[in-house]
Amino acid sequence: MTLFVDVRNMVRWTAETGPEAIIAGMSRYIEDDFRRWESFDKIARVGSHTPFGVIELMPTSDGETYAFKYVNGHPSNPARGFQTVSAFGALADVSNGYPVFLAEMTLLTALRTAATSAMVARALARPGSRRLALIGAGSQSEFQALGMRAALGIREVAVWDTDPAAMAKLARNLEPLGFDVHVAASGREAVRGADVVTTCTADKARATVLSADWIEPGVHVNAIGGDCPGKTELDPTILLRDDVEVFVEFPPQTRIEGEIQAMPADFPVTELWQVLTGRAPGRTSPSQVTVFDSVGFAIEDLSALRYVRDAVRGTPWVDDIDLVAEPEDPKDLFGMVSAFSPIPS
Ligand code: NAD
Repeated sequence: MTLFVDVRNMVRWTAETGPEAIIAGMSRYIEDDFRRWESFDKIARVGSHTPFGVIELMPTSDGETYAFKYVNGHPSNPARGFQTVSAFGALADVSNGYPVFLAEMTLLTALRTAATSAMVARALARPGSRRLALIGAGSQSEFQALGMRAALGIREVAVWDTDPAAMAKLARNLEPLGFDVHVAASGREAVRGADVVTTCTADKARATVLSADWIEPGVHVNAIGGDCPGKTELDPTILLRDDVEVFVEFPPQTRIEGEIQAMPADFPVTELWQVLTGRAPGRTSPSQVTVFDSVGFAIEDLSALRYVRDAVRGTPWVDDIDLVAEPEDPKDLFGMVSAFSPIPS
C-alpha cells in the first residue's frame, strides 16, 4: 500500500498544526538536506513550455529515497478561474522502486517555498530585521509572510500588487494572524524602509517589479517569482551592483530559469548549500545586499514530502491507496485479470 495525502487531508493537517509551525519545521528538514547536498542526484527540472505556461517534472534521489514533483506555472490561469501553480508529487523506495508516499503539492509547494525562503533568510538577512515588503499578493504571499515571521520574527508587512483585490485579500488573511499590514500605493512605497523584500509576482515576461534605485543598503531580496525562461522580476542592474551578492539553489537550473538568466554564463553566484555548510561566506557586512534568486529545486520537494510523511504517519490525515499492482506470483501480472473474469478472445 502507498500512503496518500489528498487535498482535504493536507488542508486539515495544515490548519490543525498551523502553517507557521509547519513552515518552521519544514525549513529545518530542507536545511538538513541542503547540508548533505553532495549525496543527492541533481538535474535541472524538465520543462514543457507552451504559450499557456509551463509543466515541469522535478526529480531527485539520495540513493535511498527517490522523489519527483509535477508542477505547472500558468500566469494567465487566475483570470480563467484556475491557479497559477498546482502540483502533486511522490516518494519512492529506491531499493525496489515502489512508490511509498503520494501527496497533493499545491498547498505543499506554497509551504515548502516559504520554508525555503525562511531557511535562506535565517542565513542571509540582517539580524533585527523588522519589516517585510511583499511585491505580489497572490497564492504564495501569505505563506511567504509566515515564513519571514518564523525565520526573523517579522510582523510588519507592506504589500504592493497591481490587483487591489489581491492586496485586500492579503490584509484580510494576515491581520487576524497578528501582522501589521500596510497596503502601499506603489512598489517603491512598499519597499521603502524594508529589511526584506519578497517578490512573488506571476507574469510570463521580463518584468521589472523591483528597481535598482529602490534598494536600500543591507536589504535581503527574496526573489521567488522569476522561475522560468523568459520570466524575471528584478531590474537586471540590481545583480550588477558592487554591494550585491547573489545566492542560488542549483546553478545549472538557476542559470536557465532564474534572474541570472539575463547574465553571462559565468556570472558569479554563491551556492546556498555551501553557505549552510560553512564552505562559503553568506552576508559579509550589514550594508551588503543579499539576493536569493529562488527558482525552487527538487531537493526542497523531497524534504517537504519527507516532512509531511513523518508528520502524518499514524494520524487520520493520511490514507492507504492501492497504487501498485502486486500479483502473488510477481511474474504473473496477467493472472490478476484472467482470474477475475473471463477474458474475451
Ligand atoms: P498568483 O498568480 O497567485 O499571484 C501573483 C500575483 O502577482 C497576482 O496577484 C498578480 O496580480 C501579481 N502581479 C503580477 N504582475 C505584477 C506586477 N508587475 N507588480 C505587482 N504585482 C504583480 O501566483 P503565485 O502562486 O502567488 O506565484 C507567484 C510566483 O511565484 C509565480 O511566478 C510562481 O511561478 C512563482 N513560484 C516560485 C516558486 C519558487 O520556488 N521559486 C514556488 C512557487 C511559485
